[in-house]
Amino acid sequence: MTAEKHNISDQANQFLNRTHKLFIGGQWVEAQSGQTFDVVNPATGQVISKVARGGSGDVDLAVKAARKAFEGPWSKMTSSERGKLIWKLGDLLEQHLTEFAELETMDNGKPLAVAKFADVPLAVDMFRYMAGWTTKIEGSTIPVSVPTAPGGEFLSYTHREPVGVVGQIIPWNFPLLMAAWKLAPALAAGCTVILKPAEETPVTALRLAELVQEAGFPEGVVNIITGFGEETGAPLAAHMDVDKIAFTGSTEVGRLIVQAAGTSNLKKLTLELGGKSPNIIFPDANLKAAIAGAASGIFFNQGQCCCAGSRLYVHQDIFDEVIEGVSARAKKIRVGHGLDPQAQMGPLVSHDQLARVCNFLEEGAKEGAVAKAGGKRIGDSGYFVEPTVLVDTKANMKVVQEEIFGPVVVAMPFTDVDEIAATANDSIYGLAAGIWTQNISMAHKLARRIRAGSVWVNCYNVFDASLPFGGYKQSGWGREMGKEVLNNYLEVKAVTTQL
Ligand code: NAP
Ligand code: MG
Repeated sequence: MTAEKHNISDQANQFLNRTHKLFIGGQWVEAQSGQTFDVVNPATGQVISKVARGGSGDVDLAVKAARKAFEGPWSKMTSSERGKLIWKLGDLLEQHLTEFAELETMDNGKPLAVAKFADVPLAVDMFRYMAGWTTKIEGSTIPVSVPTAPGGEFLSYTHREPVGVVGQIIPWNFPLLMAAWKLAPALAAGCTVILKPAEETPVTALRLAELVQEAGFPEGVVNIITGFGEETGAPLAAHMDVDKIAFTGSTEVGRLIVQAAGTSNLKKLTLELGGKSPNIIFPDANLKAAIAGAASGIFFNQGQCCCAGSRLYVHQDIFDEVIEGVSARAKKIRVGHGLDPQAQMGPLVSHDQLARVCNFLEEGAKEGAVAKAGGKRIGDSGYFVEPTVLVDTKANMKVVQEEIFGPVVVAMPFTDVDEIAATANDSIYGLAAGIWTQNISMAHKLARRIRAGSVWVNCYNVFDASLPFGGYKQSGWGREMGKEVLNNYLEVKAVTTQL
């Protein structure tokens, strides 16, 4: 590990300079293997911290701790007490906003201003929103007719009960926020959790675990296991005593999770997978706003967003003007170390991701795509890629079909609404879409036709803890956030009494 002092707070520096253990049953413990692995700053390639390399034995201990907490103190707490703890966690996170933002920037690469403005406040809000739900999870009283018992009188009602011990496997693009999206509803529903952060970005989940302790959650309610997907995620997904897995990441690993559930205990699953979302601009749109929205829709978070507006469809009458505008914006984006206050875009998360994105750029060029802006790596240290706008792209090209997960948008012209409705849906994914027009009636009609979990009209990437988010088609199963997500962490029990 470098002892290099970064220009961040002492708290953040001190946290990074420690070697981190696993958080199991309220204790910090070494991995059974005794091994650790390095955490790298993607802006420099330097090692900034070390964390425990968990394995199946550690997963097993964490599941036992979570089961004990589920059957013990956690289920005995009132929903109001549970809500207070979740709210407190949100408060503590807010008190440490700058420190968390610094840790996120060091670990993930994103600009500090973005982490401060988006990642941490959205995570705080998620805990608060879900804290409020704890006291509002209700069943219903249901009038029954029971044709097989003529004249019988019955009282029937439903209980909504926590699904149990939940494994949560999260990606590296919004490490803290994904932890909050997962933890907050699970805790609100009364579940206990084993969370596995991505190997690239384990830092903020570990710091969050310290706040979980400080808030006073009972031991074992939240457990954090750092490690590699195959060594920790896979045994969690295959574990016989895990009742549910909530996963966010690639479609490929999503399939492995489904298989693991299928060949173990048929645990419940929710999956939030990839996307290749269309962002559609009509000729009557406010072009200034649409151009800005098209650029931020793809370049926000270095393009590492599952809902990135990565297919840009522009009406042919305004195609050149819009592409000029988006390309001009792309060229102006200042790419740099996330701690540089001038930086508007940081590096990609890892060397692997850099290689993946550069490979897409090469394939695109080979197939005839032309870069109007960007098109290549920046420099040779850190994992920086130019904000890229590709034109002359065709529906069957790899860059149009597949999720790149980098700052690369493919742009194509269209002529009418029926054509664009079909083209927008011409994807295995269905996570999000954007529509830019002044014709609100047409926008709402088109929104109905698009098979995607989120549709933004005259805006993009607008998130709120109260809005459900998730995918149609191969973008996933179930929803995150809003009251919808709670259904994924609750079982429904129907109780009937003959009176
Ligand atoms: P990934 O491999 O799907 O990783 C997501 C999470 O799953 C990580 O915590 C990962 O652990 C874990 N994992 C990996 N293999 C596993 C297994 N066999 N069983 C259980 N868990 C497992 O995604 P990635 O490698 O980080 O990124 C690859 C591509 O996925 C990206 O380029 C992008 O296209 C897509 N992606 C999508 C999202 C999204 O928000 N929908 C987020 C990230 C990535 P490790 O960290 O150890 O691999
Ligand atoms: Mg991976």
